[in-house]
Amino acid sequence: MSSRIETDLPAKLAEIVGPRRVRIEAERLDELSWDALSEGRLHPLKRPQTALPLCVAEPETTVEVQAIVRLANQEKIPVVPFGGGTGLMGGALSIRPNILLDLRGMNQILEIDPVACSARAQAGVVLEALEKKLNDAGFILGHDPWTLPVATVGGAISTDSVGYRASIYGSMGEQVLGLEAVMAGGEILRTRAVQKSSAGIDLNALLVGGEGCFGIITEATVRIFPAPEARSLTGFRFESFERGYTAVQGMFSRRLRPALIDLGDDGEKPAAGAVLYVAFEGGREIIELEAKCALTICEQNGGKQLPGGQAERFWRDRHVVARRFMENRRQRRTRGRDGIYRDWIHVALPASKVLPFRAAAAPLIEQRGVQLQESGLWVHPELFSMRLGIEDDGSNQAQLRLAETIEEMLRLAQKMGGSMEYTHGIGVKLAPLMAEEHGYGLEIMRQIKRALDPNGILNPGKMGL
Ligand SMILES: Cc1cc2nc3c(=O)[nH]c(=O)nc-3n(C[C@H](O)[C@H](O)[C@H](O)COP(=O)(O)OP(=O)(O)OC[C@H]3O[C@@H](n4cnc5c(N)ncnc54)[C@H](O)[C@@H]3O)c2cc1C
Repeated sequence: MSSRIETDLPAKLAEIVGPRRVRIEAERLDELSWDALSEGRLHPLKRPQTALPLCVAEPETTVEVQAIVRLANQEKIPVVPFGGGTGLMGGALSIRPNILLDLRGMNQILEIDPVACSARAQAGVVLEALEKKLNDAGFILGHDPWTLPVATVGGAISTDSVGYRASIYGSMGEQVLGLEAVMAGGEILRTRAVQKSSAGIDLNALLVGGEGCFGIITEATVRIFPAPEARSLTGFRFESFERGYTAVQGMFSRRLRPALIDLGDDGEKPAAGAVLYVAFEGGREIIELEAKCALTICEQNGGKQLPGGQAERFWRDRHVVARRFMENRRQRRTRGRDGIYRDWIHVALPASKVLPFRAAAAPLIEQRGVQLQESGLWVHPELFSMRLGIEDDGSNQAQLRLAETIEEMLRLAQKMGGSMEYTHGIGVKLAPLMAEEHGYGLEIMRQIKRALDPNGILNPGKMGL
């Protein structure tokens, strides 16, 4: 990239999107240079370099994205796509000077097809806006993460995000029928929006979980669902996580189809029992039967129903954290400076390995002087998470100890046949572990990246690519 183009860039971008949609104010560049990865969660010895974007472009159409990418490719300037900026792994972090593509102006819901049960939307549509529009038409989106009020369609697909009700509706990637994306040379890829095709390999897979490294999603057609006639939501308390887990497995082996499964340690003491929230959605008669069956299974495992109101509160407050995040993005970035470092793992394991993993992890965590604050299961019996914390003793060692413990846990999951992350993607945070995760698979990804993006302009330095 020449210094001439750096100087000319705002004017060149203004020719594409108009001057009002090119931003160069220092405050704006700083704000959009970070996503929701807090500094306290970075491995202190593996911190990526950071940079400010050269400028922010706010396209509203696919043609504008195409022209920006062509310019970037010609001048070899990195392009970082930015949706809601809620990614927790630094996928949208600016690690080199770049054109930051703020996609939130691409906010049109283009079509709702009630017969095909699908919706087509631009990539920058906020999930909650789509949900509301679908509700008016008698449908739901299905994808329902904590960050529903902030995250965008394109960002959710690019991280293959998982929401509260993914047990029946699937991850955001699983809901994708067809995509439109601008590739590194400015070509436009459009895949056919059908549930199933055997006409060659599935090119949606290049973009689902692709974190903007293989193409920039401009539109998506996703599966939607008729609004459920009824929902049953119940909370149970179990004397141990293991008994709660056995109940969850019992439900899945009986082929019940809960919309929500949320099993977690009760409070910050993993030995103090566990709480399970389970929901069913759909036709009234069917869910009544399913809920009855789930109640029997839970009671057989010692589950005691929680007092009325607790489950409803859990459900009502599920997006509160995202609204707080919106109010104070910056505080989130610097989190970890309040005297306690915290981090999470979200691993996918064979169901037979979840309890052995939890049992093996606890003593390793304790040996390192780190606190296991909570473990939990979300959505499926295979998706297991843990929250770890350590007090900052002022020596800089605490953050390192936490980061090393997290890596040890992720490697343990890999060793037990699992995957190190099921919902938040890789970004910069987990990039150093990609070779262990994928082996030769990472080399294949790198070859695909080189073939499609020879100048390496699309979100370079992310996902270990
Ligand atoms: C408080 C909190 C709670 C959360 N809860 C959940 C949860 O329940 N479930 C869950 O799965 N995640 C959760 N997350 C993580 C986050 O919401 C997801 O990763 C989200 O899916 C990212 O969407 P976004 O629009 O914010 O994308 P961004 O953060 O802007 O971007 C994410 C990645 O996608 C790329 N990208 C963005 N748009 C495009 C595009 N159009 N084309 C190509 N690449 C693109 C970016 O470059 C980046 O690599 C949570 C985060 C926070 C802060």
